[in-house]
Amino acid sequence: ELLLEVKDLSAVIAESKQPILKGVNLTVREGEVHVVMGKNGSGKSTFVKVLVGHPDYEITGGSVTYKGQDLLEMDPEERAVAGLFMSFQSPVEIPGVSNIDFLNMAYNSRRRKLGQPELGPIEFYGYIAPKLELVNMKVDLLNRNVNEGFSGGEKKRNEILQLAVLGADLAMLDEIDSGLDVDALRDVAKAVNGLLTSKNSVLMITHYLRLLEFITPNYIHIMENGRIVKTGDISIAKVLEKEGYKAISGT
Ligand code: ADP
Ligand code: MG
Ligand code: MG
Repeated sequence: ELLLEVKDLSAVIAESKQPILKGVNLTVREGEVHVVMGKNGSGKSTFVKVLVGHPDYEITGGSVTYKGQDLLEMDPEERAVAGLFMSFQSPVEIPGVSNIDFLNMAYNSRRRKLGQPELGPIEFYGYIAPKLELVNMKVDLLNRNVNEGFSGGEKKRNEILQLAVLGADLAMLDEIDSGLDVDALRDVAKAVNGLLTSKNSVLMITHYLRLLEFITPNYIHIMENGRIVKTGDISIAKVLEKEGYKAISGT
């Protein structure tokens, strides 16, 4: 079943009108894992930010259909309620708000919008405890302020925890593996694998082929200058590893 269909999507930076996305095409079906790779500055982060409705960008052409709806007509909140999730390349710190309160609020806000009962702090703790194990996260990180003083690995685990708490039909993970040691990488990959079902899909941006030792994608896409210039299977990654981006460049 079709989940996301991106056709000829173009976008500019809202402030400067500088074109960044120049006709992106991508189709994601339920249960698929997609990886987007490409050089720094090719537009990978912009692509996923545009999909969640980030205000820094303006759509100038093309269409995005998500679960049969026009995604570009939905506001960012509606997109989130509809199961679109994005983890940030640089997760933000929120001073003065404890991690567990933040997650509980985010969870309850989602439940409200779905017309489901909210969870109080004790019930919520029961809900989140097994998920901590999934991401192998220390329980004391729940009582610290959101991401404040977290190590790189802890921030990434926290992003995955957020995903596990909120759930998603399409999880877009931007460089979730950058700055991780091999143990943290394995934990994050295991957690992502644990969240995958035949229904939900993942779109991962990565620079590192080592992530692909732990998560097997259905498709690898290469982004270059605001377009997906090549799509293939894991063999693309192998060419990339040996010969670099110029071997698979679209130009
Ligand atoms: P990638 O994630 O592939 O490294 P990005 O999507 O972050 O690339 O950025 C693509 C290009 O757009 C870069 O040249 C970047 O500097 C520029 N860019 C993206 N977002 C903004 C922004 N909000 N303001 C100014 N420049 C931006
Ligand atoms: Mg980058
Ligand atoms: Mg990026």
